[in-house]
Amino acid sequence: MSRPAESVVHGSKASAKDLPSVDRLLRSPAVAALVASHGHTLVAGQARALLDMLRVQALASALDTSAVQSDALHAALAARIAQRLAPRMRRVLNLTGTVIHTNLGRALLSDSALQHLLAMMAGPNNLEYDLDSGGRGDRDGIVEELLCTITGAQAATVVNNNAAAVLLSIAAMARGREVIVSRGELVEIGGAFRMPDVMASAGATLVEVGTTNRTHPADYERAIGERTALVMKVHTSNYAVQGFTAAVDEATLAGIAHGKGVPLATDLGSGSLVDLAAYGLPREPLPQEMLAAGCDVVTFSGDKLLGGPQAGLIVGTKEAIGRIRKFPMKRALRMSKLPLAALEATLMLYLRPERLAQDLPTLRLLTRPAAQIRAFAQQLAPAVAEAVVPRFMVEVADMQGQIGSGSLPVERLPSAGLAIAPLQKKGAGRALDELADALRALPLPVIGRVSDDRLLLDLRCLEDSAPFVAQLPLLKERLQ
Ligand SMILES: *Cc1c(COP(=O)(O)O)cnc(C)c1O
Repeated sequence: MSRPAESVVHGSKASAKDLPSVDRLLRSPAVAALVASHGHTLVAGQARALLDMLRVQALASALDTSAVQSDALHAALAARIAQRLAPRMRRVLNLTGTVIHTNLGRALLSDSALQHLLAMMAGPNNLEYDLDSGGRGDRDGIVEELLCTITGAQAATVVNNNAAAVLLSIAAMARGREVIVSRGELVEIGGAFRMPDVMASAGATLVEVGTTNRTHPADYERAIGERTALVMKVHTSNYAVQGFTAAVDEATLAGIAHGKGVPLATDLGSGSLVDLAAYGLPREPLPQEMLAAGCDVVTFSGDKLLGGPQAGLIVGTKEAIGRIRKFPMKRALRMSKLPLAALEATLMLYLRPERLAQDLPTLRLLTRPAAQIRAFAQQLAPAVAEAVVPRFMVEVADMQGQIGSGSLPVERLPSAGLAIAPLQKKGAGRALDELADALRALPLPVIGRVSDDRLLLDLRCLEDSAPFVAQLPLLKERLQ
């Protein structure tokens, strides 16, 4: 590795004999420094892989002598190690216009949730330990009282996610018996989560009533019988049935079900804990309303409109929640201490509703006024235009965003952002793909959406422009 630089003849090829052994490479001072910081295992493994790759190139006479210089080998090794240590899970900028984006991790945690999470995970905690008695505690106890205060429920429990909450509730209440659901509510949430399949997984028999567009009280009344264990409503969160429609509301259905001694469960999906209409947003049903209407069990997600970590929240009557909590499947679906800490801190924010639109990122983003977003877009436009010139032009444009995660599917959120269009009509499609690829390939990937031959960057979810702006020179370089 003491080959003098002058011996490099530009374009000359190295042979496999010019490569050092793994041991020799590891002993060179620069690589020894890598070993000192990362340890032998990782560095030696990557060194071996690097030399194997270079050897193959050398045997194919495709390795420049410059690549076997000690500086080049060291740089290549350091780059391999950095790449190996780069997490697969990465931060991205969500400029899609969909605030609660399932593919981009749904709700963002509040500062207080992040702080509580960090503090609780850094050391032991009282997850299942009662500090008063010094005996065993119940992890549900951490959030049950908060959930009861906020929703007015008699009791509450939490599991891994809402899909688990629905599965567990049905299994605990109706395994081996019948569950009545309207044909208008046999939803597929996405992936393999389809109501009829969930019923089967829970060991319950689905009894469909009504039709796709109309279900009446009499449909339920006729269907309830000896084998009925549960009547269930499912909030049609990700689609809307419009036109000649009829559904039976929870209060009416609770009367019918309870009249025959059968409990009523409702899966709300998103389940906002505050009335969004008060913030000028489209309304979603609240768990507290469902309980007041007489539902025995209400299930909803932690990381949709609630704005917390992934979780499945189950609130309801003492009797129903008691059965659900005791059901053996609960142990397999229980929440981990990580999201539980974040959930507690998130729910705590609801005790100060006047501050919620500031403190809860989901609500803060949802309530950002379009005019403010537009002004922000105006500020950013010149810098972005400079980065994409001369192939693209940038315009400030009004946009229609979405809440996301199946909430309020037909409602749009008036928003604004940057619309980037190729200047040449010829090859415009490819140019747009290239731009989208370049944005995604940035160190902090930028995710927009393509619509009408333009790449749209909806700025509703960009609160701090600095990390975005800092990448524009690199974008410019890559688009050259
Ligand atoms: C989203 C949703 C679910 C699943 O909730 P996860 O928290 O994603 O598991 C179940 N039911 C409805 C109606 C939903 O909208």
